[in-house]
Amino acid sequence: MSKCVFHRIQTTLDAEDKAALNALLNTAPHITVARELSAAGYPMSEHTVRRHRKHDCMCAAVTV
Ligand SMILES: [Zn+2]
Repeated sequence: MSKCVFHRIQTTLDAEDKAALNALLNTAPHITVARELSAAGYPMSEHTVRRHRKHDCMCAAVTV
């Protein structure tokens, strides 16, 4: 139930934004992802992005 900030943001996005975010996540450095999200109104640190990407966050611990 409790997942990381990154996941919570993903769930608030519509399909188009989520696709754009996933594309960014697949190609851009952590810091770029963090900056894009912060610019879009979702303050996020580079570390949060990195942990989510490496599955070193709450998302990986919680299996539905
Ligand atoms: Zn996560």
